[in-house]
Amino acid sequence: MQEADAAKTVFYKATAADRGMELLSIGAWLGLSVSVCVRLVAFSDSGWWVIVLAAAAGMIASDFCSGLAHWAADTWGDADTPFLGHHFIQPFREHHVDQMAITRHDFVETNGNNCLVSLPVLLLALLIPIGVQDKLGLFAVSFTLFVALWIMATNQIHQWAHSETPPWFILLAQRLGVILRPEHHALHHSMPYAVNYCITTGWLNGLLTRTRFFPVLERIITRLTGALPRQDDLNLPPAPVVPESSISATASSILPLTEPLPE
Ligand SMILES: [Zn+2]
Ligand SMILES: [Zn+2]
Repeated sequence: MQEADAAKTVFYKATAADRGMELLSIGAWLGLSVSVCVRLVAFSDSGWWVIVLAAAAGMIASDFCSGLAHWAADTWGDADTPFLGHHFIQPFREHHVDQMAITRHDFVETNGNNCLVSLPVLLLALLIPIGVQDKLGLFAVSFTLFVALWIMATNQIHQWAHSETPPWFILLAQRLGVILRPEHHALHHSMPYAVNYCITTGWLNGLLTRTRFFPVLERIITRLTGALPRQDDLNLPPAPVVPESSISATASSILPLTEPLPE
Protein backbone atom coordinates (compact mmCIF):
# COMPACT_ATOMS: atom_id res chain seq x y z
CA MET A 1 0.00 0.00 0.00
CA GLN A 2 2.87 2.27 0.89
CA GLU A 3 4.51 1.46 -2.46
CA ALA A 4 1.28 2.19 -4.33
CA ASP A 5 0.98 5.60 -2.64
CA ALA A 6 4.60 6.35 -3.39
CA ALA A 7 4.19 5.32 -7.05
CA LYS A 8 1.24 7.69 -7.42
CA THR A 9 3.49 10.61 -6.54
CA VAL A 10 6.41 9.35 -8.61
CA PHE A 11 4.91 8.59 -12.00
CA TYR A 12 4.64 11.62 -14.25
CA LYS A 13 1.49 12.04 -16.31
CA ALA A 14 1.51 14.91 -18.78
CA THR A 15 -1.78 16.83 -18.95
CA ALA A 16 -3.17 18.68 -22.00
CA ALA A 17 -1.91 21.92 -20.39
CA ASP A 18 1.57 20.39 -20.03
CA ARG A 19 1.51 19.41 -23.69
CA GLY A 20 0.45 22.91 -24.72
CA MET A 21 3.23 24.47 -22.66
CA GLU A 22 5.80 22.06 -24.10
CA LEU A 23 4.74 22.89 -27.69
CA LEU A 24 4.80 26.64 -26.95
CA SER A 25 8.23 26.32 -25.33
CA ILE A 26 9.66 24.47 -28.33
CA GLY A 27 8.22 27.13 -30.69
CA ALA A 28 9.58 29.99 -28.56
CA TRP A 29 12.96 28.25 -28.26
CA LEU A 30 13.23 27.93 -32.05
CA GLY A 31 12.19 31.56 -32.64
CA LEU A 32 14.64 32.96 -30.09
CA SER A 33 17.50 30.71 -31.27
CA VAL A 34 17.11 31.87 -34.86
CA SER A 35 17.09 35.51 -33.67
CA VAL A 36 20.34 34.99 -31.73
CA CYS A 37 21.93 33.23 -34.73
CA VAL A 38 21.03 36.19 -36.99
CA ARG A 39 22.73 38.47 -34.43
CA LEU A 40 25.83 36.28 -34.41
CA VAL A 41 26.12 36.23 -38.21
CA ALA A 42 25.87 40.04 -38.27
CA PHE A 43 28.83 40.36 -35.88
CA SER A 44 30.84 37.28 -36.86
CA ASP A 45 33.53 39.44 -38.51
CA SER A 46 35.06 39.67 -35.03
CA GLY A 47 36.36 36.12 -35.63
CA TRP A 48 34.81 32.69 -36.06
CA TRP A 49 37.40 31.26 -33.68
CA VAL A 50 35.68 33.20 -30.88
CA ILE A 51 32.44 31.36 -31.66
CA VAL A 52 34.22 27.97 -31.72
CA LEU A 53 35.83 28.73 -28.34
CA ALA A 54 32.46 29.80 -26.94
CA ALA A 55 30.87 26.58 -28.25
CA ALA A 56 33.38 24.43 -26.32
CA ALA A 57 32.97 26.52 -23.15
CA GLY A 58 29.18 26.32 -23.57
CA MET A 59 29.33 22.51 -23.67
CA ILE A 60 31.25 22.37 -20.40
CA ALA A 61 28.99 24.94 -18.70
CA SER A 62 25.79 23.17 -19.76
CA ASP A 63 27.17 19.82 -18.57
CA PHE A 64 27.64 21.45 -15.16
CA CYS A 65 24.13 22.98 -15.31
CA SER A 66 22.66 19.57 -16.18
CA GLY A 67 24.43 18.03 -13.16
CA LEU A 68 23.30 20.78 -10.80
CA ALA A 69 19.65 20.63 -11.98
CA HIS A 70 19.59 16.82 -11.95
CA TRP A 71 21.14 16.65 -8.48
CA ALA A 72 18.65 19.25 -7.16
CA ALA A 73 15.65 17.36 -8.61
CA ASP A 74 16.91 13.99 -7.32
CA THR A 75 17.81 15.28 -3.88
CA TRP A 76 15.40 17.97 -2.68
CA GLY A 77 11.63 18.45 -2.66
CA ASP A 78 8.97 16.07 -3.95
CA ALA A 79 6.15 15.85 -6.49
CA ASP A 80 4.10 18.35 -4.44
CA THR A 81 6.72 21.13 -4.57
CA PRO A 82 4.94 24.07 -6.28
CA PHE A 83 5.44 24.08 -10.12
CA LEU A 84 8.89 22.45 -10.02
CA GLY A 85 7.44 19.31 -8.38
CA HIS A 86 5.25 18.25 -11.30
CA HIS A 87 7.37 19.56 -14.17
CA PHE A 88 10.90 18.75 -13.05
CA ILE A 89 11.13 16.71 -9.84
CA GLN A 90 8.50 14.11 -10.75
CA PRO A 91 10.02 13.15 -14.16
CA PHE A 92 13.43 12.66 -12.52
CA ARG A 93 11.94 10.54 -9.72
CA GLU A 94 9.96 8.49 -12.24
CA HIS A 95 13.16 7.89 -14.15
CA HIS A 96 14.77 6.26 -11.13
CA VAL A 97 11.87 3.84 -10.74
CA ASP A 98 11.40 3.09 -14.45
CA GLN A 99 14.55 3.91 -16.43
CA MET A 100 13.04 2.91 -19.77
CA ALA A 101 9.98 5.20 -19.49
CA ILE A 102 12.08 8.02 -20.96
CA THR A 103 12.54 6.00 -24.17
CA ARG A 104 8.75 5.94 -24.66
CA HIS A 105 8.46 9.76 -24.58
CA ASP A 106 7.99 11.49 -27.93
CA PHE A 107 10.02 14.49 -29.11
CA VAL A 108 7.71 17.07 -27.50
CA GLU A 109 7.59 15.39 -24.09
CA THR A 110 11.33 14.72 -24.14
CA ASN A 111 12.40 18.25 -25.06
CA GLY A 112 9.58 20.61 -24.05
CA ASN A 113 10.65 21.24 -20.44
CA ASN A 114 14.29 21.78 -21.37
CA CYS A 115 13.23 24.30 -24.02
CA LEU A 116 11.24 26.09 -21.33
CA VAL A 117 14.14 26.36 -18.87
CA SER A 118 16.54 27.58 -21.57
CA LEU A 119 14.26 30.42 -22.73
CA PRO A 120 15.66 32.93 -20.16
CA VAL A 121 19.18 32.01 -21.33
CA LEU A 122 18.23 32.78 -24.94
CA LEU A 123 16.62 36.05 -23.88
CA LEU A 124 19.89 36.96 -22.19
CA ALA A 125 21.75 36.19 -25.45
CA LEU A 126 19.47 38.67 -27.22
CA LEU A 127 20.05 41.38 -24.61
CA ILE A 128 23.85 41.16 -24.17
CA PRO A 129 25.34 44.23 -25.88
CA ILE A 130 27.63 43.48 -28.83
CA GLY A 131 29.43 45.85 -31.20
CA VAL A 132 31.57 45.74 -34.34
CA GLN A 133 34.95 44.02 -33.70
CA ASP A 134 33.73 43.30 -30.16
CA LYS A 135 35.30 39.94 -29.37
CA LEU A 136 34.15 39.87 -25.76
CA GLY A 137 30.55 40.64 -26.75
CA LEU A 138 30.69 38.01 -29.50
CA PHE A 139 32.03 35.44 -27.03
CA ALA A 140 29.34 36.28 -24.45
CA VAL A 141 26.47 36.02 -26.94
CA SER A 142 27.84 32.81 -28.55
CA PHE A 143 28.54 31.20 -25.16
CA THR A 144 25.01 31.97 -23.96
CA LEU A 145 23.51 30.59 -27.18
CA PHE A 146 25.49 27.34 -26.91
CA VAL A 147 24.56 26.91 -23.25
CA ALA A 148 20.88 27.21 -24.26
CA LEU A 149 21.41 24.80 -27.16
CA TRP A 150 23.06 22.11 -25.04
CA ILE A 151 20.58 22.52 -22.18
CA MET A 152 17.80 22.03 -24.72
CA ALA A 153 19.54 18.90 -26.08
CA THR A 154 20.29 17.38 -22.66
CA ASN A 155 17.17 15.33 -22.11
CA GLN A 156 17.31 14.05 -25.69
CA ILE A 157 20.93 13.00 -25.08
CA HIS A 158 19.82 11.38 -21.82
CA GLN A 159 17.08 9.49 -23.70
CA TRP A 160 19.62 8.23 -26.26
CA ALA A 161 21.82 7.00 -23.38
CA HIS A 162 18.94 4.67 -22.39
CA SER A 163 17.84 3.77 -25.91
CA GLU A 164 18.65 0.28 -27.20
CA THR A 165 18.63 1.49 -30.82
CA PRO A 166 19.93 5.06 -31.11
CA PRO A 167 20.69 6.37 -34.64
CA TRP A 168 24.17 5.39 -35.93
CA PHE A 169 25.55 8.94 -35.73
CA ILE A 170 24.42 9.21 -32.10
CA LEU A 171 26.10 5.88 -31.35
CA LEU A 172 29.27 7.30 -32.91
CA ALA A 173 29.03 10.52 -30.86
CA GLN A 174 28.52 8.41 -27.70
CA ARG A 175 31.52 6.21 -28.48
CA LEU A 176 33.68 9.27 -29.18
CA GLY A 177 32.59 10.70 -25.81
CA VAL A 178 31.12 13.84 -27.39
CA ILE A 179 27.79 13.19 -25.68
CA LEU A 180 26.81 11.13 -22.62
CA ARG A 181 27.93 7.48 -22.91
CA PRO A 182 25.37 4.84 -21.76
CA GLU A 183 27.89 2.86 -19.67
CA HIS A 184 29.02 6.07 -17.98
CA HIS A 185 25.42 7.05 -17.19
CA ALA A 186 24.68 3.51 -15.90
CA LEU A 187 26.75 4.42 -12.85
CA HIS A 188 24.09 6.95 -11.88
CA HIS A 189 21.51 4.17 -11.84
CA SER A 190 23.57 1.93 -9.58
CA MET A 191 24.70 2.09 -5.95
CA PRO A 192 24.98 4.60 -4.34
CA TYR A 193 22.54 6.24 -6.84
CA ALA A 194 24.07 9.62 -6.14
CA VAL A 195 26.93 10.11 -8.61
CA ASN A 196 27.32 11.10 -12.28
CA TYR A 197 24.51 13.65 -12.25
CA CYS A 198 25.88 15.43 -15.37
CA ILE A 199 23.95 14.14 -18.37
CA THR A 200 24.90 16.34 -21.32
CA THR A 201 28.43 15.16 -22.07
CA GLY A 202 29.25 13.66 -18.66
CA TRP A 203 32.71 15.26 -18.89
CA LEU A 204 32.52 16.85 -15.43
CA ASN A 205 31.33 13.78 -13.51
CA GLY A 206 34.82 12.50 -12.68
CA LEU A 207 35.93 15.87 -11.31
CA LEU A 208 32.72 16.44 -9.31
CA THR A 209 32.92 12.93 -7.81
CA ARG A 210 36.59 13.23 -6.86
CA THR A 211 36.05 16.62 -5.22
CA ARG A 212 32.85 15.37 -3.48
CA PHE A 213 31.16 18.48 -4.83
CA PHE A 214 27.55 17.33 -4.33
CA PRO A 215 27.98 15.61 -0.92
CA VAL A 216 29.67 18.76 0.41
CA LEU A 217 26.87 20.92 -1.03
CA GLU A 218 24.29 18.64 0.60
CA ARG A 219 26.05 18.91 3.94
CA ILE A 220 26.07 22.73 3.69
CA ILE A 221 22.35 22.87 2.76
CA THR A 222 21.44 20.49 5.60
CA ARG A 223 23.37 22.61 8.07
CA LEU A 224 21.73 25.82 6.85
CA THR A 225 18.14 24.59 6.45
CA GLY A 226 17.84 21.33 8.38
CA ALA A 227 16.47 19.61 5.25
CA LEU A 228 17.71 16.06 4.60
CA PRO A 229 18.82 14.97 1.12
CA ARG A 230 16.65 12.32 -0.65
CA GLN A 231 14.29 12.30 2.32
CA ASP A 232 11.33 10.82 0.42
CA ASP A 233 13.38 7.99 -1.11
CA LEU A 234 12.54 5.94 1.98
CA ASN A 235 8.96 5.64 0.69
CA LEU A 236 9.84 4.62 -2.86
CA PRO A 237 10.11 1.22 -4.49
CA PRO A 238 13.78 0.32 -5.05
CA ALA A 239 15.46 1.47 -8.25
CA PRO A 240 16.25 -1.32 -10.72
CA VAL A 241 19.70 -2.80 -10.32
CA VAL A 242 22.11 -2.28 -13.22
CA PRO A 243 24.11 -5.43 -14.16
CA GLU A 244 27.58 -5.32 -12.68
CA SER A 245 29.08 -5.99 -16.10
CA SER A 246 27.97 -2.54 -17.25
CA ILE A 247 29.62 -0.78 -14.36
CA SER A 248 33.16 0.32 -15.10
CA ALA A 249 36.06 0.07 -12.72
CA THR A 250 35.67 3.72 -11.77
CA ALA A 251 32.73 2.73 -9.57
CA SER A 252 35.14 1.33 -7.05
CA SER A 253 36.75 4.74 -6.65
CA ILE A 254 33.49 6.38 -5.60
CA LEU A 255 33.34 7.02 -1.88
CA PRO A 256 30.15 5.95 -0.10
CA LEU A 257 27.94 8.90 0.85
CA THR A 258 27.71 7.67 4.40
CA GLU A 259 31.40 8.39 4.92
CA PRO A 260 31.81 11.50 7.10
CA LEU A 261 33.01 14.56 5.24
CA PRO A 262 36.21 16.30 6.25
CA GLU A 263 35.39 19.23 8.53
ZN1 LIG B 1 18.84 10.86 -11.29
ZN1 LIG C 1 19.05 7.99 -16.79
